[in-house]
Amino acid sequence: NIMAQLIDGKAIAKSIRDQAKLEIQELQAKYPGFKPHLAIIQVGEREDSTVYVRQKERAAKESGINITIQKQDSSITQFELLRAVQELNNNPSIHGLLVQLPLPDHISEKIITEAISPKKDVDGFHAHNIGNLSKRHSSPLFVPCTPKGIIELLNRTGIQISGKHAVVVGRSDIVGFPVFTLLSRADATVTLCHSKTENLPEITKTADILIVAVGKTEYIKGDWVKPGAVVIDVGTNAVEDQSKKSGIRWVGDVEFSSVSQVASHITPVPGGVGPMTVAMLLYNTVDSAKRFWKESRER
Ligand code: NDP
Repeated sequence: NIMAQLIDGKAIAKSIRDQAKLEIQELQAKYPGFKPHLAIIQVGEREDSTVYVRQKERAAKESGINITIQKQDSSITQFELLRAVQELNNNPSIHGLLVQLPLPDHISEKIITEAISPKKDVDGFHAHNIGNLSKRHSSPLFVPCTPKGIIELLNRTGIQISGKHAVVVGRSDIVGFPVFTLLSRADATVTLCHSKTENLPEITKTADILIVAVGKTEYIKGDWVKPGAVVIDVGTNAVEDQSKKSGIRWVGDVEFSSVSQVASHITPVPGGVGPMTVAMLLYNTVDSAKRFWKESRER
C-alpha cells in the first residue's frame, strides 16, 4: 500500500504570503503611499472566532498589511453593527473589510454581509460577488478565500482539473457551493452532494477529485474513495484529547488513516486547507488595495 502524497498547505500558504509581502514592498518602493489595510469586526468573544481573527492579524502584519480589529460587544444591535460597517465602508484608507462569522442570533448574517461594500468584500460573501462568480463570462471582484485556496492547492500541486470528475460534499455558501462553481469554471465535471444525497459512498467513489466540507469527524472512509483520487479535506473538527496542552486536537471530515492508503494526494488536518484560507484573505486584500490605488490615480 502506497501512502498518498501529502499536499502541504502550510508550505504553499507560506510561499503565497511571502509573495504578497514582496509585492507590497515592490509597490511601496514605487509608490510610497501604498499601504494595504484590512479591517475585521468581531462581535462577541467566541473562542474559535478569536483564534481565527488572531491568525489573520498575525499573517497580515507579517506581510506588511495594516490591520484594524474592531471588537464589538455581543449585545450590539444590528443597527449599530450596520453603522460600524458603513463607517468602514466609507473610510478611504481601508481596502478590505470583513465581519467574522458566525454572528449572535439577534443579528442577520445575510443583512450584514450584504451591507459590506462589494468593493471591500475580501471574504467574497456579498451577493454581488457570489452572483458574478456563478455567472458565466463574469468575474467577481473577490472569490471566497477557502474555495480559492482549494483551487490554488490543486493548481500548485500540478493536478489537472479540466475534464476530471470532481465530487464536492457539502453545499454551504462559504465552502461547498463556491468550490462547485470554481471547479466548473476550471472545466471539471462536478457533482454536488449534501445531507439528502442517496448512496453517497457510491458517488464519492467515482471522484477523480474529492472535496469534503461537511463538518463531521472522519466521515469519509477509505472504501468510499477511488484509488488514485485527489482528496481535499476542508473539515476542521475539534476532538477532545487530554494528551494535548489545549485539551483538543483538530480532525478532518476524512478518515486519514484509511483514505491516505487509497488516494494519490491528500491534505492533512491541520496544515492543509486552513492556512490557505488566511493566505487568500491577504491576497484579496492586496488585490483590493491595488484596485483602489489604480482608481485613485486615474481620477
Ligand atoms: P456547513 O455546516 O455550513 O455545511 C455543511 C454541509 O455538509 C451542508 O451542505 C450539509 O448538507 C452537508 N452535510 C451535512 N451532513 C452531511 C452528510 N451526512 N452527508 C453529506 N453531506 C452532509 O459547514 P461549512 O461548509 O461551513 O464547513 C464545513 C467544514 O469545513 C466544517 O468542519 C468547518 O469547520 C470547516 N471549515 C474549514 C475552513 C478552513 O479554512 N479550513 C473554512 C470553513 C469551514 P445540507 O446543505 O443538506 O444541510
